[in-house]
Amino acid sequence: MSRYIALIFCALIALAGCSDNGGHNANLILITLDTQRADFLGSYGYPEPVSPNLDRLAEQSLLFENAYATAPFTAPSHASILTGQHLSTHGVIYNGHRARSLAIGAESVTLAEHLGQAGFNTKAVVSGGPLDARFGFGRGFEGYNLIPQMGYPDSGGDPAQVTRRAGNWLKDWKYTGKQERFFLWVHYFVPHLPYLNRPAVRDTLGILFGETVDEINAATLPVDDVRQAYRAEVFEMDRFIGELIARLAKLELADDTIIAVVGDHGEYLQEHGLTYHHSLYDEVLHVPMFIHWRDLQATERRSGAVSIIDLAPTLLDLLGVDKMATAQGHSLRKSVAAAPVFAEWRDFRLLGDHKPRPGDFLVSVQDGRHKLIRDVLFPESSMCFDLNVDPAESTNLFGAEHPLPVELGAVLDDHLKHGLPQGLAGIDDIQIDKKSLEMLRSLGYVR
Ligand SMILES: [Zn+2]
Repeated sequence: MSRYIALIFCALIALAGCSDNGGHNANLILITLDTQRADFLGSYGYPEPVSPNLDRLAEQSLLFENAYATAPFTAPSHASILTGQHLSTHGVIYNGHRARSLAIGAESVTLAEHLGQAGFNTKAVVSGGPLDARFGFGRGFEGYNLIPQMGYPDSGGDPAQVTRRAGNWLKDWKYTGKQERFFLWVHYFVPHLPYLNRPAVRDTLGILFGETVDEINAATLPVDDVRQAYRAEVFEMDRFIGELIARLAKLELADDTIIAVVGDHGEYLQEHGLTYHHSLYDEVLHVPMFIHWRDLQATERRSGAVSIIDLAPTLLDLLGVDKMATAQGHSLRKSVAAAPVFAEWRDFRLLGDHKPRPGDFLVSVQDGRHKLIRDVLFPESSMCFDLNVDPAESTNLFGAEHPLPVELGAVLDDHLKHGLPQGLAGIDDIQIDKKSLEMLRSLGYVR
């Protein structure tokens, strides 16, 4: 009995360390996982080996089982992670395109700007064209490295180079005797199409399927093969994250550093007959999100629906830094009442002279149990799902005799009216330049 009480006491102390002032002298590493579905991590229930290093990290983490992205693609979602804002507010409504301003809106504050103001050394190492500094992602960073894709066969920069650059920066920070705390953002692009499915990984995992999966064959190969190739990519990324964490430990910085992990969006692996990432089904919105802190003795799992816009406010709270006044998300440090989460999608087909079709412009609301996907241009094509009984989103209740569409519609109307100070950015707000178009073409979004 006394051992039991001692255990509870230890757990309470650990939680107090995390929730009250334990992080007030800590550094921060933000790791963003591009194209990472929540259900393809061991800590989120994937049944086979896929993410041993991330899982070890998750063992001492505040983990959000139901975290949702604000968009199914890279730039808008990352802008939400960094600003704590919805798409229509920070203005990055497309990859490489923007609404109302040249990049992340001038009136938005980013996590790097805010932590820089608070005296942190700031550095970013990212690996995908949509995160080019010219779209505002470099704001507030003293150093910003976009690792180029050149000479590397996958869609983003070489993850070995990303890991090395980030690790070397940590080493420099340590040995130059910096007194300031640091904020390091590291972005991995590995699970994005094509899935290279490398022989060394296949051998380790016992994957028999031996091909690369690209945007052409992703829809036509047997689904199990596509899933295994995607798994191989996640496993490969996880290995590099393991190296980065090991470097942090070797530099004796692990005890003083909070590590936040979040996915920017997921990926369809033939669900709904889809591949890639677009539209607003849960396969592309449900992402991993957890915050590792050494004093947390076990995983504290929260099941309520939360948004990636809540991550930055939570991290500032843990770090003991003042709030970002412009963030729309809320700190999740303590358990909070369930709140609906929102997402936006404008299709790449809308570029150029394309005549809009149903599904091109969507907004969604969900609370983890119920969901409405409203078609902005073709409202009659909206969809509504009772995720309690239909987590696969296969039975559309919109237009049926059911109270859900009306109830969720009112919540969504309220968000569009009061939650977006500048209103919902329209398709007329999409702008593009030649350089962005080339970048999108290289990633397979535009043909
Ligand atoms: Zn992405």
